[in-house]
Amino acid sequence: MVLYSGGLDSILACRVLQEQGIRVTAVKFVTPFFGDEAADDPQRYIGRVQDKYGIRLVVKDITDEYLPMLRNPEHGYGKNFNPCIDCKILMIHKTLELMPEYDADFIATGEVIGQRPMSQRKDTLNCIRNESRAQGLLLRPLCARSLKPTIPEELGWVSREKLPHISGRGRKKQIELAEKFGITDYPNPAGGCRLADPIQGRRLNEYFRKWPGMDGNDCRLAVTGRQFILPGGWWLVLGRDKAENARLEMLKRHTDLFLQSKNVPAPAGILRNPLAKGHKPDNATVKLAAAMMLYYCRKCQGSIDVRTECFGKVDKATAIEPLSREDIDEFAVDTN
Ligand code: SF4
Repeated sequence: MVLYSGGLDSILACRVLQEQGIRVTAVKFVTPFFGDEAADDPQRYIGRVQDKYGIRLVVKDITDEYLPMLRNPEHGYGKNFNPCIDCKILMIHKTLELMPEYDADFIATGEVIGQRPMSQRKDTLNCIRNESRAQGLLLRPLCARSLKPTIPEELGWVSREKLPHISGRGRKKQIELAEKFGITDYPNPAGGCRLADPIQGRRLNEYFRKWPGMDGNDCRLAVTGRQFILPGGWWLVLGRDKAENARLEMLKRHTDLFLQSKNVPAPAGILRNPLAKGHKPDNATVKLAAAMMLYYCRKCQGSIDVRTECFGKVDKATAIEPLSREDIDEFAVDTN
């Protein structure tokens, strides 16, 4: 089983093993922080990876195991809110648990020694191997020749000599290998993880400190749309486009106040109080939320009628006073 991030290195890890006649099952882990494309439509994603790269893939959501680790990673965070070492330990350990189900004999990753300053140093790679409990069953095919031989190499399942010998920060060898395999279309190595993003990482860190009980739905809401904290600790999220409005509709809970304009294309919104889940917002808060919808509604001409729904009760609110940019900035969590 190969841990599949979708980046070139994980694609190459799969391909170099396949080239040695090994049957590969790649596993793509998803959480609210990475893997949206696979999480949103797993079957489509699986089909695309198969068609594009000839790799058989499975998608697994590990949010429930991920959140406790994210709150308190043993090895700390990287530059932003990214607990890279603990994240890898968790994913490799999860893969270890999946091995019997997929009849797998060993695990591989696309890690390259020296590629990243912290999480791909030799001592870190060893720590990940040991703490994930994968030990000798964990092969890093792209840089294995710089590491101690693993069980699949010692047993002759994998020829160490035929593996590429990649190390360091450069990408030249990976690009050459990609060309050899006819892989031309692959994502940029950076990007993809919200925890490593300076703005989203800071926001998530702040929310976890404020609301330590955040669950998967809260985290998905935290990475959607425009974010505001209103008086009384009410968390308002507004959609920026049709897709985000649809996502908010999917994420709304019975205890949320869900706001929607029925007449004009306007942002949809969720008002939630993570510290007081059974409470309804008061009228002033609902009016303020409606006024914020009005601010972002291009087609509204000076007023908006909003349909609200909370605890199954449908109501309405009207906003006629557009807010100023300063008012918006007062409540905005980051740049909106
Ligand atoms: S960048 Fe994100 S997904 Fe990648 S190892 Fe770090 S925390 Fe995990």
